[in-house]
Amino acid sequence: AALADLVASRVLDVPDFPKPGIVFKDLMPLFADGDVFRQVIDGIVAYHGRESFDVVAGIEARGFVLAAAIAYATGVGVVPVRKAGKLPRATHAVSYDLEYGQATLEVHTDAFAGGQRVLVVDDVLATGGTAAATLDLVERAGGTVAGLSVLMELGFLPGRERLAGRPVHALLTVQ
Ligand code: 5GP
Repeated sequence: AALADLVASRVLDVPDFPKPGIVFKDLMPLFADGDVFRQVIDGIVAYHGRESFDVVAGIEARGFVLAAAIAYATGVGVVPVRKAGKLPRATHAVSYDLEYGQATLEVHTDAFAGGQRVLVVDDVLATGGTAAATLDLVERAGGTVAGLSVLMELGFLPGRERLAGRPVHALLTVQ
């Protein structure tokens, strides 16, 4: 509860971003507050347990920030899950529907060789399309999903249903 309050205290609602009618949850104030950022990173690690994962995967782009901090704090490596066309070597790709159009995420085919246990992180869980694609990518690249953590879950969207059976953890769920 304390961590949920901390997250709630460092989010700004931005109306009509990125398009009219959407209220964007801006978590930059949380990232910019060193004390809160550290507590959030430590909280995610404590929730999963340091021994439960071998590597951290961050979803472009805000997930990179979280993943790097968790990796450094725990002494594991970090793997980027990137938008199409950014990774230099052979990739697995998963496409998914957005409200308008499609998006594609990629990961290097050898990213999780040896069955590594992967903790996946991002800032916000909305419709769940991004997270679902990423968990598929982790498994296609040879990893097993140790968990998915987000700072904030939009409870009025069907993200959690879409990830049914997956280990989804949100520090804060807003309605
Ligand atoms: P989804 O695929 O679950 O609909 O959208 C989640 C992805 O879009 C995440 O990578 C997240 O960073 C981004 N996203 C969607 N809505 C928001 C929002 O309101 N605030 C932030 N910070 N990111 C969002």
